[in-house]
Amino acid sequence: MIIQRVVLNSRPGKNGVPVAENFRLEQSTIADTVQAGQVRVKTLYLSVDPYMRCRMNEDTGSDYLQPWQLSEVADGGGVGVVEESKHENLAKGDFVTSFTWPWQTAAVLDGSVLQKLVPQLVNGRLSYFLGAAGITGLTALLGIREKGHVAVGANQTMVVSGAAGACGSLAGQIGRLEGCTRVVGIAGTDEKCSILVQEMGFDAAINYKKGNVAEQLRELCPGGVDVYFDNVGGEISDTVINQMNQNSHIILCGQISQYNKDVPYPPPLPPDIEKVQKERNITRERFLVLNYMDKHEASVLQLCQWIQEGKLKVRETMVEGLANIGAAFQSMMSGGNIGKQIVSVSK
Ligand code: NAP
Repeated sequence: MIIQRVVLNSRPGKNGVPVAENFRLEQSTIADTVQAGQVRVKTLYLSVDPYMRCRMNEDTGSDYLQPWQLSEVADGGGVGVVEESKHENLAKGDFVTSFTWPWQTAAVLDGSVLQKLVPQLVNGRLSYFLGAAGITGLTALLGIREKGHVAVGANQTMVVSGAAGACGSLAGQIGRLEGCTRVVGIAGTDEKCSILVQEMGFDAAINYKKGNVAEQLRELCPGGVDVYFDNVGGEISDTVINQMNQNSHIILCGQISQYNKDVPYPPPLPPDIEKVQKERNITRERFLVLNYMDKHEASVLQLCQWIQEGKLKVRETMVEGLANIGAAFQSMMSGGNIGKQIVSVSK
């Protein structure tokens, strides 16, 4: 059977900015028949995520992520539909997902790597299983619960960087649902800032590309910052940490501003900021959503409930066509997305 697939065409280099041309669309084939234990799936949605930047390097710098190989098919989070099954728990028409979905229009996969999905949990919006009801939502929720020390009645102020992105837009809303009384976002355009306030219920948002972030933070967080959900690292985070309170908490979700640089993860803070962090006893522990697999199932149900109740507003930036996945990745890494960046493959 003839299919289309996307392979890694070239590496951007550890310090390079990734571009669409780092990926290549090509025609290939898959087996016409499936073996015992296998299924043939049609791909519906693929996820592009910041962590993929390190998979473009020869050495990912982490032991839980494998590098993509040149001229080999890329992979990541995906959702699709079973078209033929020789796996006992999966039938034709089932919707399924995997963290290691190949970037191709159809595939023959081992049924054991697939999780069956219940579309009703997300009002039929299957792509949500790659975002708000998937790893992204889990990262926001478990990051806050495991590292945020948010408590109802504690009158806490939360600041979120990368706030209009996939994790950030959910993190601010979840911070509020979990008990924060004030939530302020930092994002890269006025449009993003206005969506955060008008749609997502943030109290305020700062466009970090305009004006003085430190001054605006002082004005918008007069009682200081108690919880910082950090997606970006770098200068923005240094500015926020400077305004954090004694015994406050950083949720070290990601450091996207450093991903095109050859630095260790998490990158060390500059000496003056590290001094502030130590003197004020601010926690900054490494957080990895994959370390909390035992909490994923219950947490997905919580996220789905909030989505169904309208308590969690979800935004997606949908790009059509497998051929555009490289461009979608490039765009997301440079701020072109609002909410979760998804590639729709079936059309
Ligand atoms: P995302 O925020 O949807 O997309 C990236 C966004 O980051 C862009 O839209 C851009 O928006 C912003 N950005 C890009 N370069 C920047 C820079 N130099 N400075 C400031 N902002 C920049 O991505 P996501 O999926 O939600 O991921 C957010 C973070 O969470 C990433 O760091 C990711 O690695 C991390 N993550 C961690 C875990 C975990 O287990 N710890 C799991 C998933 C994701 P602007 O317009 O605002 O610049």
